[in-house]
Amino acid sequence: MGRMLSALSGRALELGPARFAEQTGNWRAEIDDDYIYWLILDCPGKSVNTIDRGVLEELGHHVDHIIDKKPSAVVIRSAKPAGFAAGADIRQFVGATTGDITGMIKEAHLILDRLEQVQAKTIAVLHGHCLGGGLELALACDRRIAVAGASLGFPEVMLGLHPGLGGTYRSTMKADPIEAMTLMLTGKSISARRAKSIGLVDAVCEERHVRAAVEAALYGDIGREPDLKTKAFSLKPARSFAARQMRKKTKEKAPKAQYPAPYALIDLWEEHGGSRSSMQKAEMESFAKLIETDTSRNLVRVFFLREKMRGLRSGKSGVSHVHVIGAGAMGGEIAAWAAKQGFRVTLADVALKPMGRAIKAASKMLQATLKDSIKVRDALDRLIPDVDGLGASHADIVIEAVPEKLDLKRKIYADIEPKLKDGAILATNTSALPLNDLAEGLSDPSRFVGLHFFNPVSRMQLIEIVSHDRVAPETAQRATDFAVELSRLPTPVKSAPGFLVNRALVPYMSEAILMVDEGIPKERIDHRAEEFGMPMGPVELSDQVGLDIALDVATSLAERLDQPFPRTPEWLPKMVEEGKLGRKTGGGLYEFGPDGKPKKKPVDALKDDTKDDPDLLDRLILPMLNAVVACLREGVIEDEDMADGAMIFGTGFAPFRGGPIHYARTRGIDEIVAKLEKLKDKHGPRFTPDAGWEQLKTAEQKAA
Ligand code: NAD
Repeated sequence: MGRMLSALSGRALELGPARFAEQTGNWRAEIDDDYIYWLILDCPGKSVNTIDRGVLEELGHHVDHIIDKKPSAVVIRSAKPAGFAAGADIRQFVGATTGDITGMIKEAHLILDRLEQVQAKTIAVLHGHCLGGGLELALACDRRIAVAGASLGFPEVMLGLHPGLGGTYRSTMKADPIEAMTLMLTGKSISARRAKSIGLVDAVCEERHVRAAVEAALYGDIGREPDLKTKAFSLKPARSFAARQMRKKTKEKAPKAQYPAPYALIDLWEEHGGSRSSMQKAEMESFAKLIETDTSRNLVRVFFLREKMRGLRSGKSGVSHVHVIGAGAMGGEIAAWAAKQGFRVTLADVALKPMGRAIKAASKMLQATLKDSIKVRDALDRLIPDVDGLGASHADIVIEAVPEKLDLKRKIYADIEPKLKDGAILATNTSALPLNDLAEGLSDPSRFVGLHFFNPVSRMQLIEIVSHDRVAPETAQRATDFAVELSRLPTPVKSAPGFLVNRALVPYMSEAILMVDEGIPKERIDHRAEEFGMPMGPVELSDQVGLDIALDVATSLAERLDQPFPRTPEWLPKMVEEGKLGRKTGGGLYEFGPDGKPKKKPVDALKDDTKDDPDLLDRLILPMLNAVVACLREGVIEDEDMADGAMIFGTGFAPFRGGPIHYARTRGIDEIVAKLEKLKDKHGPRFTPDAGWEQLKTAEQKAA
């Protein structure tokens, strides 16, 4: 029965006869009664197709066959339910020499050029994800049909690259050039309908109409001839004008020194956009150059770190119903996010007001992220306000997110624990309270675990999975599985003051506040950190987090850790007392406009203000690295990759630098330790290098 059903599924019907053909390597191929050559990509042992050397070499052999057999048409599609292809397999470039890479690119181009030139009409049918190298392969076909629901894009820029398989010229010459450039510059995906409107695909249809669409492509005509806009941009002055705008826009988001790829793409198009052959040559050269940059290497590293974190999942968490206690800033967001990801969620609070606010905020977040009114409605249906807290006894996981007070949290556990279902997990979102203390009154502490989300949950991908002395390994594992099911990235940490991320952030933010006290303009402090690659300067971050919370976390860390912290200026607790807490009260260290943004003086306007410190950046960054090293030494976090991943996805630590430890290794451990010593002499013992640096060095020497 199962087999019958799957054989009748829409896609199986439309895959053509090749779905029954024997698989040789990555492709299945067969010629049907209408003499159409069906070519189906089905990378063995993988849930998604990626375009690698093997896929392309085999495609080359199929092109030989096609030339030989002269079919009436060629239809290319994928057998994977997830989509056409996820992009090029970047693993093949890791560790490859420049010569290897250039060779691979040239061969790949030859194959796609030959596919483009075959006499038979070639049609790519695209469903699900069609990204990067997959889209480039499709662009080498005469026609593209997208199945409704497909999403298309060029994510290469996120890896510090631009398309390298002909995508730069095929997309700008076949589709609207400005839209195609925007797609490549932003790395964002677009829907099938949008892809049709910009000319990236020729038709959109439902799966059941694929065959008819293929026929229309063959015998009728769908497709788009280059329009006026495309023709206009074949002239250099028009491209130069547009390129200037693109550079300006790109500069606002990514400086050239840190992110060279988008600039290289703009140069490439401006210079060569009028000639396919010269753009092809230039694309190959530029791609090979970019792949060798530190930025691209580090962004590829970040890609693998993400995979490693997702790979911590061992199976299904078994969670379908989530109960959240506390509908405040965090609880509300956690509940909304879980509902978005398909979980049934009950949300409880002692007060009604926060519940109303949480549902309103959820609706806003869901509209902004889902962009589909039916999906928003379904997610809101799954999010149930639960005034009496009845959901607790049905839930598979209960997440507590009430204010940071030990007694309050313990009281809630005492009330809730007897009601929990067998096998249910009890989780806390505490940022700083020791889990051993929280677990004290529990009759079954083995089911208790920390799930430390970051604010805002919809944007910060990290969740620290916090263990304690008596947690069952199974509980920690299920919490990890659940985090991945939430589309977040888990990092296991041990319960220790500040866990990893806050422990590393506190010295960074506190040092910045001390610098403000020293009279250094706050805009200058933020600017230096942003130049380094932090998404937001530490002064602005303090305002965002809330000066009350920042002060609380810093005080609690200083009390519990046996190490010196930056002095807290007297004015800070005063500001908190007066209710000047930062963004949430309209002002803190900065004043905030009605748009929720801080009013900052332009950095150029600070020229006359000489208050500065040549060590400013190191005073901010090195204590952060020092704290991460201490966490590694103490076993708060197990390995360097996880620490780097957690800092990138939990704080936005400059991704193009590959993470704090990777940055330290690149800059040189000796140099960093020497600099810390120098800062210690100048500014005090808070800069004392952690003993863990020695261990890092030993590990490095062993590896060498
Ligand atoms: P919040 O004050 O915004 O929300 C707490 C909510 O809990 C309020 O709506 C309150 O009415 C409710 N509440 C109080 N007592 C309750 C009870 N007995 N039963 C049910 N609900 C009750 O606080 P928040 O910022 O969302 O923080 C919650 C937890 O998350 C804290 O432990 C905090 O340390 C942690 N956390 C906060 C952040 C952040 O940036 N705000 C980030 C990570 C973790």
